[in-house]
Amino acid sequence: MGNEQLEELRSKLDEVNLKLLDTINERAKLVQDIGRVKNAQGVNRFDPVRERKMLDLIAANNEGPFETSTLQHLFKQIFKAGLELQEDDNRKVLLVSRKKHPEDTIVNIKGETIGDGKQRLIAGPCSVESYEQVASVAKVLKEQGLKLLRGGAFKPRTSPYDFQGLGLEGLQILKRVADEFDMAVISEIVDPRDIETAVEYIDVIQIGARNMQNFELLKAAGSVNKPVLLKRGLSATIEEFINAAEYIISKGNGNIILCERGIRTYEKATRNTLDISAVPILKQETHLPVVVDVTHSTGRRDLLLPTAKAALAIGADAVMTEVHPDPAVALSDSAQQMDFEQFAKFMGDLRESGLYKL
Ligand code: PEP
Ligand code: MN
Repeated sequence: MGNEQLEELRSKLDEVNLKLLDTINERAKLVQDIGRVKNAQGVNRFDPVRERKMLDLIAANNEGPFETSTLQHLFKQIFKAGLELQEDDNRKVLLVSRKKHPEDTIVNIKGETIGDGKQRLIAGPCSVESYEQVASVAKVLKEQGLKLLRGGAFKPRTSPYDFQGLGLEGLQILKRVADEFDMAVISEIVDPRDIETAVEYIDVIQIGARNMQNFELLKAAGSVNKPVLLKRGLSATIEEFINAAEYIISKGNGNIILCERGIRTYEKATRNTLDISAVPILKQETHLPVVVDVTHSTGRRDLLLPTAKAALAIGADAVMTEVHPDPAVALSDSAQQMDFEQFAKFMGDLRESGLYKL
């Protein structure tokens, strides 16, 4: 008799467990629905006032045998699991992810496309030093069929005593050269307050490695209608890099180009360690074009050609490198910029390799 009763009670317990299971999952679905509404409204998912009200409701209706404090503890766990579920949902739908947008994003820079399968080259001096300097580089690039010219006007230097760039005057020089040579210019902006002005002079806003997690700068760049070249941070993981791009797209600007520029490791043979496998990973995870900066990743002129070949072979949408009329007297990065002769040889060798087709 006792055994039969025990079995009956156990089977009732199983039934209640299954009811609890259904109820908990029903609650989870409601939590997901609420999460989607909150997401659309842009409001915070965690709402402590609402949570307090739910706990009070439980306390007011508890008829035992559990102590209210025990029940509140249990419900807190359920609330927490619900919040985590909403966060997981959110993570899955990053706007930069392929899951959200399977087609490749093609960034159009004054008619020059990046991300459509044609592999481009971007080149120019590390720093804008004078009109004559930039114009002479532009002429050489143009002869090689390049349209994308880079040059730094605001230079984020490791030492405050090093050349900091010409600032606005540098942007004005870039615009003049872009107009005269019918080229598009890429330049780094370091202060969110300069974004509005910069868009009048340049065609692509570069966000440098040191600023990859300058969230105010990312948001400011995301709020304008201008392509952004985002560089990977010095020690940033791929996930952090992707999230930095998400800051830009979340403000409405989806014209983003990711740039692998090497990361800091214990290796001292190169300035940074070029993480070449980041290229296919970024292309699998996101729909954005990916560029490899061979100058800043290696810091070595003798490695520009082999790393450029590797970048093209692995599927980078563009390679970026630095060219200067006389690198020995350059105001920054004199060790790794190519002079015109070296650049001509670099281009010739790349073409001969069959990897660069334009
Ligand atoms: C640059 O491209 O001029 C530059 C400073 O590079 P990074 O931000 O990758 O160091
Ligand atoms: Mn440089």
